[in-house]
Amino acid sequence: MARYIFVAGGVMSGIGKGIAVASIGRILKSQGYKVTAIKIDPYINVDAGTMNPVEHGEVFVTEDGTECDQDVGNYERFLDENIYNDNYLTTGRVYQAVINRERNLEYNGRCVEVVPDIPNEVISRIKKAGRKTKADFVLVEIGGTVGEYQNMLFLEAARMLRLSHPNDVLFILVSYLPVPKIIGEMKTKPTQYAVRTLNSAGIQPEIILARSNIPLDIIRKKKISIFCNLNESDIISAPDISSIYEVPVNFEKEDLSKRILAKFGLKKKKHDLKDWNKLVNVIKNAKESVKIGIVGKYFETGEFTLMDSYISVIEAVKHACYYFKKKPEISWISSEKYEKNPSLLKELKKYQGIIIPGGFGLRGVEGKIKAIEFLRKNKIPFLGLCLGMQLAVIEFSRNVIGLKDAHSAEFDKESSNLVIDVMEEQKSLLKEKKYGATMRLGAYRCEINPKSLSFNAYKNKVIYERHRHRYEFNNKFKEMFEKKGLVIAGINPEKNLVEIIELKNHPFFIGTQFHPEFKSRPLNPHPLFREFIKNSIKRKTA
Ligand code: GLN
Repeated sequence: MARYIFVAGGVMSGIGKGIAVASIGRILKSQGYKVTAIKIDPYINVDAGTMNPVEHGEVFVTEDGTECDQDVGNYERFLDENIYNDNYLTTGRVYQAVINRERNLEYNGRCVEVVPDIPNEVISRIKKAGRKTKADFVLVEIGGTVGEYQNMLFLEAARMLRLSHPNDVLFILVSYLPVPKIIGEMKTKPTQYAVRTLNSAGIQPEIILARSNIPLDIIRKKKISIFCNLNESDIISAPDISSIYEVPVNFEKEDLSKRILAKFGLKKKKHDLKDWNKLVNVIKNAKESVKIGIVGKYFETGEFTLMDSYISVIEAVKHACYYFKKKPEISWISSEKYEKNPSLLKELKKYQGIIIPGGFGLRGVEGKIKAIEFLRKNKIPFLGLCLGMQLAVIEFSRNVIGLKDAHSAEFDKESSNLVIDVMEEQKSLLKEKKYGATMRLGAYRCEINPKSLSFNAYKNKVIYERHRHRYEFNNKFKEMFEKKGLVIAGINPEKNLVEIIELKNHPFFIGTQFHPEFKSRPLNPHPLFREFIKNSIKRKTA
């Protein structure tokens, strides 16, 4: 029988609840337990696929093609386990399932009500995910912050599950303790309010993870203990740290896994955070940096710059750098400036390697194509991911083969050289505006050309990688490309689709139709990112 740990957030969002959940998962796993994690997002969207990354961060894609919240990526990275569709809930998903069942007469004519039918659906989904993964612990992250109208029904589900399984459910609150500059003191009141709000939903948190920019002192601990009705030992200091990968280690300094196990009356089995500790040591001690540029467009929100849209790419770069005991130094480069001012392109020489990640829509595309031309000619290591690969194909068509109007059907349907196009079978669906069914999502098989850089990286003839795109390399142009030195390094055999392209006579130029970043893990960097960083290290910058 699984045990359930619900994690809710207090005071404000964006304080690292996902990382906290992922880290709790890691330390419980290090105690020898099987752990899985579920993300609940309170919005109506059935999945994250339809959301703008600047607003909501990266859309993470699982093996089974679920487009979900970026926190699921953190769970996979920290747990080193794949997460599947059952582990992702949104209000939209839950209501859709209940309404479908009602329409199918599955409620036997009775009145279907928000409470208890919605929380019951939530509970049955949580239990199902636990059963399917055979987990000892199911971590459930409730998105948003307590007190928000949107997540009430999920808190209600948590309360009801606790009522029916009193010994198998634990509540953790991740709360924020501000230290306002003008006061110069850490304030506990917002956390007290958050706990009271939870109390009014019938929930008493048993552990509080106290997020702040500095560690919690004993006076604050005592205050929270008295006002929020918890033992001092159950209030865990969680100050800001420079690397997210340090969080599990910090939690263990405060004996968090022991506290959790004690709540369930469980003993620790074996405690093994050795590899993780080693990783943290590398992160802390790496001196020499690797300068990597990411040329993209989903960075800006008002006056702020966000990295969340490319979080898996960034983490994959870090994993590969740590593998070589180097310090990643990642810069954001907005491609649009190269459209207005191509003379800026020479700044790319400052970097040891450049990544052009995935994307949708025309904005910034021509700037990225110009950047790729510069990287190709100046032999700067290049990794193109999904859209990045498609644009590398367009650049090659225009500037090496001489097909001046070469383009992707996504951007210019009138072009006479659609080197990136939709497959025949997608065309009728698109006409009917059935966009959802036209995306290639999730893991697909890819056969690697043994005479390629990619084979060198994977050391494997068959691999599986995750996709999220609508357009494909147009096979009509294949021969023409190969003659001019473009290597088709990976093919999906079922549909004969080009999955990887490379260039001859270049130190490292690889474009992948898939998103390798989704499969990179801190203790096991993705082979393509590893080779990309290896070649970037070799490059001395100007
Ligand atoms: N917009 C492109 C497509 O749909 C690439 C998508 C991506 O980069 N994820 O094919």
